Amino acid sequence: MHPISKFAIAMVLAVSLILSGCIEQPSKSDKLLVVATIQPVGEFVRAVGGDRVDLMVLVPPGAEPHTFEPSPAQMKRIENADLYVKNGAGLELWLERFSSKSRRVVDSSEGVDLIYLNGTPDPHIWLSPRCAMIQVENICRALVEIDPEGKEIYENNRDAYIKELRGLDEYLRSRLSGAGGRIFVVDHPAWSYLARDYGLVQVAIEEGEREPGPRRIGYIVKTVKDNNIKAILVEPEFNPKMAEVIASEAGCRVVEIDPLAGDYINNMRAVGDLIAESIGV
Ligand SMILES: [Zn+2]
Repeated sequence: MHPISKFAIAMVLAVSLILSGCIEQPSKSDKLLVVATIQPVGEFVRAVGGDRVDLMVLVPPGAEPHTFEPSPAQMKRIENADLYVKNGAGLELWLERFSSKSRRVVDSSEGVDLIYLNGTPDPHIWLSPRCAMIQVENICRALVEIDPEGKEIYENNRDAYIKELRGLDEYLRSRLSGAGGRIFVVDHPAWSYLARDYGLVQVAIEEGEREPGPRRIGYIVKTVKDNNIKAILVEPEFNPKMAEVIASEAGCRVVEIDPLAGDYINNMRAVGDLIAESIGV
């Protein structure tokens, strides 16, 4: 072969490699970009979406979802998302003004039997596995709608995850069965759905999102003593100072439970154990 044509072939090869490299590099991921507001809802998305979704969770660990403000970069990603999954039930009021720009929004609370307080829904639905099952169904339906090719995968994933949620539901039912009708005491009232679905009574230090006054504090101290409560359960997202004051007055401990932790199934098992222990069953 003539040396020049050899050179020419090498050049063509090199150019085609560069070109293909150039074409490949900026090619967008073919995964769906899904934005979820809180970690547990993100986990439901991941459980159903698997490899077909690229997930971003807005509220970072340790942040408080009721008063969260997304950064400008996060707002941009919300606008670019294929699907935006909110918990719903009024949790993400801070996001209402951006969500309309997103291509597709799913309210995962649709169909959940909501608890209302003074006409406002209690947003903490994900903290009962029975509500979580409905959220997972809603997420699956939305994914199938925007990506029908993945229907079988999504539905299989959904079924597998709902099976895990059923296992969790059974665990909580048996773990809390001895505590029927009993009171547990928390700082922030995030556990109303869990209390309703497993037959417990939640008493919260916080009163209408305000710091408790002396009467409320006296009432909580009396409740702890009268019911022989072993621990006040506090969330890591909130200042535990008031709970500590009340606990030392009432002679019980302060124990942390996290409504936003990762590893939803195992976290909720641990929550069930800690609530049971705080009641003394
Ligand atoms: Zn909350």
